[in-house]
Amino acid sequence: MSALLDVRDLKKHFPIRAGFLGGTTGYVYAVDGISFEIAKGETLSLVGESGCGKSTVGKAVLRLFDITAGQVVLDGQRIDQMSQATLRPLRRRVQVVFQDPFSSLNPRMRVRDILAEPIRNFRLAKDGADLDRKLGELMDRVRLPRDAIGRWPHEFSGGQRQRIGIARALAAEPDLIVCDEAVSALDVSVKAQIVNLLQDLQSELGLALLFISHDLAIVEHMTHRVAVMYLGKIVEVAPRRSLFAAPKHPYTEALLSAVPQPMPGAQRERIILTGDVPSPINPPKGCRFHTRCRYVFDRCRVEEPPLAAVEAGHTAACHLHDLPPDQNPLSGAKGASLLAV
Ligand code: SF4
Repeated sequence: MSALLDVRDLKKHFPIRAGFLGGTTGYVYAVDGISFEIAKGETLSLVGESGCGKSTVGKAVLRLFDITAGQVVLDGQRIDQMSQATLRPLRRRVQVVFQDPFSSLNPRMRVRDILAEPIRNFRLAKDGADLDRKLGELMDRVRLPRDAIGRWPHEFSGGQRQRIGIARALAAEPDLIVCDEAVSALDVSVKAQIVNLLQDLQSELGLALLFISHDLAIVEHMTHRVAVMYLGKIVEVAPRRSLFAAPKHPYTEALLSAVPQPMPGAQRERIILTGDVPSPINPPKGCRFHTRCRYVFDRCRVEEPPLAAVEAGHTAACHLHDLPPDQNPLSGAKGASLLAV
């Protein structure tokens, strides 16, 4: 698979200003040098605790603001430096589904107008009949009855509204959809339905998904690869099976230990992370995770570990992997068994 989206050394630092007219007194290092790719038709999940910078990455990919440094390349074209006019045709190719299906739909627009807006904006319909045909197809795609297209958003349940949000994203005929905590606000059973719908749409339409979530239990069921973020950095990237079976970063290991297991007795030892997440205004020197890591040693406090290959297709940013295997608690670890080390 070739890369549809290629993000290189992306940084987004938000200035902190003193008072209304004051100068810059510091920066929030929300995203601090991350790289990843998404292939056509692939789902990459970006996971981590709230405040780790993952939603900022989504907004950067959508060009909702200018980035501080780095590159965002869509299908071979750098979009991070494009003017809004040049960017316009490319905007169609990257769409978004937001977390809150209640606030993300205009309550004063009927579903028909909500879905017709991107089709008109991007001139995707030849005439009125073509527009009607596309609207009908969109309702079919998200499994909503066609005769509901004349209703208002408040007449739908939360799950149905999220289907409308997905249909609105599909209306622009995108190649990539950024799903920013798209199922987090939904009930458990509705979550599963929306995740199944996204998977079906992906295989029907060949869509790529950047799935931003704090919920690893959902991610485990629907992603191809996972990138784990901590305090503005990616600390681990791996195919789903490899990451869930044998995490190579202590932060991922702790996150996975909190995921409920369906089989009795398969539950991993719960690792409770002590201490608060440090401030992104003043991140710790060395490894950013060292203030909460149960394996921390001297080198971690002074030297930042690079994201490096640990196995084929599996990268992690941790000094443990420079130690001999018998001193590395994460070498060759398999799921729960590694936690006995
Ligand atoms: Fe923990 Fe050190 Fe690895 Fe950071 S580099 S995750 S502190 S062991």
